[in-house]
Amino acid sequence: AKQSGKNQYKFFDRQVQEKIMLKRKISTTLRYALNTHAFTLMYMPIYHIESLEVAGAEVLLRCIDPSMEGIGPDQFISVAEEFGMIKEIDLWVIEEVFRILQSSGLCESNPDFRISVNISAEEMNDIHFPDVLAKLAQQYAVSPACIELEITETRLVDIDASNIDVLQRIRALGFRLALDDFGTGYTAFNQLYHYPVDQLKIDRSFINELHEGCKHAVMVDAILSIANSYQYETVAEGVETQDQLTLLREKGCDLAQGYFLSKPLKWVHFVELPGVKIYE
Ligand code: C2E
Ligand code: CA
Ligand code: CA
Ligand code: CA
Repeated sequence: AKQSGKNQYKFFDRQVQEKIMLKRKISTTLRYALNTHAFTLMYMPIYHIESLEVAGAEVLLRCIDPSMEGIGPDQFISVAEEFGMIKEIDLWVIEEVFRILQSSGLCESNPDFRISVNISAEEMNDIHFPDVLAKLAQQYAVSPACIELEITETRLVDIDASNIDVLQRIRALGFRLALDDFGTGYTAFNQLYHYPVDQLKIDRSFINELHEGCKHAVMVDAILSIANSYQYETVAEGVETQDQLTLLREKGCDLAQGYFLSKPLKWVHFVELPGVKIYE
């Protein structure tokens, strides 16, 4: 028993070692990708649940360096955070979004559209971040109202007054804010009014196995009812079946995204969707 315990220890030790090596490799590749512009953006359409008209899209980052094949942002964003590269990466994403919005005229042609961009918790700690956003909006002549920034609910655990101030300043500029992965964190519903946000995105895990009467349905009902009383817009993410979509529509959720509606698309395909207009 003693012997096998020792082997098990060695086994875990090797697993830890391998994890560290993989993280180092990813961080090296990310650094290289930043220098060689080996990133690209995908656009996941978001739909009005009632009319199924396109309401906008969520921007999702991809690293196109060949050695990153099969490694998505779920894995590399945390590495970027750990190795101090996330701000640079997020800034690249944001500027790229401004650039494409300016050159396509998407916001002018579809005044109610919103393009959602994920930001890391690091940005909330940066008191200069609102100024950076203001400058970019001016430089690219894009209305902030067209852009929504998504912050992950779990990251709000140790949010302080200065973070709230940053969020408030961003919102005062006219950008919209969304709480991403809502329901997975520890935000007490009665604390929600502290956060200056416009939208709640109901986490994929609640939508995934959603059917009437199940425990996820109870959670979704609770989220929709609190959103209703605070007048937050609601988005269901990860809708994979017609049944989920129908149920969410009955429950009064505003918007939906997910593989049932569309996978993330390249920009050229996103702008070809019915109802999406750009400059010709
Ligand atoms: P997220 O913000 O929750 O984004 C949604 C993720 O769920 C995306 O994965 C999307 O492809 C996936 N998804 C959406 N609908 C469905 C569905 O119906 N079924 C399934 N199985 N999956 C669905 P992706 O692109 O791998 O992104 C993972 C996470 O990486 C994102 O989660 C977000 O937290 C982060 N991320 C992505 N792009 C950026 C970025 O530019 N900056 C930052 N800071 N984080 C990013
Ligand atoms: Ca998101
Ligand atoms: Ca999410
Ligand atoms: Ca997520």
